[in-house]
Amino acid sequence: ASVAQLAALDPSKLTVTKTQSPKKLTPPNELVFGKTFTDHMVSVEWTATEGWHSPRIIPYQNLSLDPSTCVFHYAFECFEGMKAYKDKNGGTRLFRPNKNMERLNKSSARIALPTVDGDALTKVIGEFVKLDDRFIPDRPLVLVPPGSALLFVIASPVGPYYPTGFKAISLEATDYAVRAWPGGVGDKKLGANYAPCILPQLEAASRGFQQNLWLFGEEEYVTEVGTMNLFVALKNKETGKKELITAPLDGTILEGVTRDSVLALARERLEPKGWTISERKIRMSEVAEASQEGRMIEVFGAGTAAIVSPVRSISYRGKLVDCGLKENEEAGEIALQMKNWIEDIQYGDEPHPWSYVV
Ligand code: PMP
Repeated sequence: ASVAQLAALDPSKLTVTKTQSPKKLTPPNELVFGKTFTDHMVSVEWTATEGWHSPRIIPYQNLSLDPSTCVFHYAFECFEGMKAYKDKNGGTRLFRPNKNMERLNKSSARIALPTVDGDALTKVIGEFVKLDDRFIPDRPLVLVPPGSALLFVIASPVGPYYPTGFKAISLEATDYAVRAWPGGVGDKKLGANYAPCILPQLEAASRGFQQNLWLFGEEEYVTEVGTMNLFVALKNKETGKKELITAPLDGTILEGVTRDSVLALARERLEPKGWTISERKIRMSEVAEASQEGRMIEVFGAGTAAIVSPVRSISYRGKLVDCGLKENEEAGEIALQMKNWIEDIQYGDEPHPWSYVV
């Protein structure tokens, strides 16, 4: 049998149906993450016989799915999360959307869902974000598109992550549950990776810790924190040099856009100042030792939601490992610098190819 020519996603075929009942805006400080959504959504059907149908922007609405739809039984589901930003001229921007599109396609391909032309989908998302731009607070808006043969994009306005400035968090080093493993799918944004992490998160919370620090293996390698990539800054024992460390992309680590951005900026702006920037495995015992020997500089998580999330301490083997912040300090120098550098690009204050004007 001959293989039919499947249609690619074509942004020029976009149709827009506007809502008849625009929603009232919620004040940014009353927004609860993932509770409020904007007026519209993107919906694109895919079929194995025709490929991608015409993309549509439609009023935000429920999906109607047959109970036998395979997502309910076999978790054929993946998603992406990114934010939209308003610059000071009222323009709307996305941050490195091509990275989210690449990752969406890697996730889809891993579970046999169709991939999509990333530039074409970014164009459609651009039209969607512009249409709903009144929901973008002075600060960001989250996009969360899953796809399963239906690719859809919805948007939720979010308030400031740290309304009263940075608040350093404490972590529980978790060894009784494993988030991801070699040969698994921990490096993909599959829905199936997330539900199993909720109970350990609640357990950590019940003991007063905001997030899990996921350890892996007998070596107790430090991998990720909650749903953020982790960065450790310390004075290297051998070289005596300052080193910024994050886990390498070995298949167990989600390829965070923020992680990639922090690494690129660190190589550009910290390396010339004598820093070593390392993608390498680091054991929890090495982190604890650095802290004990006064070589710890700072620790922070990195992800789209908060950009950076400074860490005060890590509970490990019944003891608290201090992560280098002074008592009255909520963020270290590197975390602060990264947040400012990245925000300046996201909001267009520093012209940069990473900022995509829609
Ligand atoms: N790790 C995990 C497990 C995540 O879910 C996320 C959120 N996408 C991240 C790291 C951070 O990735 P990003 O910087 O792209 O938001």
